[in-house]
Amino acid sequence: MAQTPPSAPRAARRIHRFLAVGLIAVTAVITTAPGCRAQNSSTVPPSSSSSTASPLNDPRSERRGALGEADGAVPDGVTVFDDAIPAVANLDPDLLKALRRAAADAADDGVEFHVNSGWRSPEYQDRLLREAVSRYGSREAAARWVATAATSPHVSGDAVDIGRSDATAWLSEHGARYGLCPIYRNEPWHYELRPEAIDRGCPRVYADPTQDPRMQQ
Ligand SMILES: [Zn+2]
Repeated sequence: MAQTPPSAPRAARRIHRFLAVGLIAVTAVITTAPGCRAQNSSTVPPSSSSSTASPLNDPRSERRGALGEADGAVPDGVTVFDDAIPAVANLDPDLLKALRRAAADAADDGVEFHVNSGWRSPEYQDRLLREAVSRYGSREAAARWVATAATSPHVSGDAVDIGRSDATAWLSEHGARYGLCPIYRNEPWHYELRPEAIDRGCPRVYADPTQDPRMQQ
């Protein structure tokens, strides 16, 4: 009678187990990778707050004739007192005055107001919108973060994105006293001038820019 040697099935089982473990490992790599990417892209705010990542701040872009500081790009470390930077100098004078008064008082608390973005040219705003559309996948999704050149309060010089987190924390507590108010819940760094806030406090924030009637034009 033919009898299978006892070692053969055990070897086969070992091979099967090895293949199964390998298959699970490969499947895990395939299924987790896109999830990580999706999570990153949905949680990263627009480039206004992470200035170093923007091609607008890349000196090589300027050499190629691309948009630069003259269009509102902001180098690292700029404060509300930097008149030489168009993003700051072209802000609405009343907004700038309020920002500087607040910044002077915040300095007593050891807090410095950095400008991550301020005034922007329409061309710069168009570029940010195109980048946002490709990042978020559609114009509708991008609208939660970036306005058009026609509607953005940055283009009119009426909005500023303040950093760092200690400065936005200071402003969220004291800003109303200077008429400086956050406008969007999803952009706690974005401030505009609301002079009536000095007496009445800041108006209720919109969830995001798509809820702002000014963006419906
Ligand atoms: Zn903003």
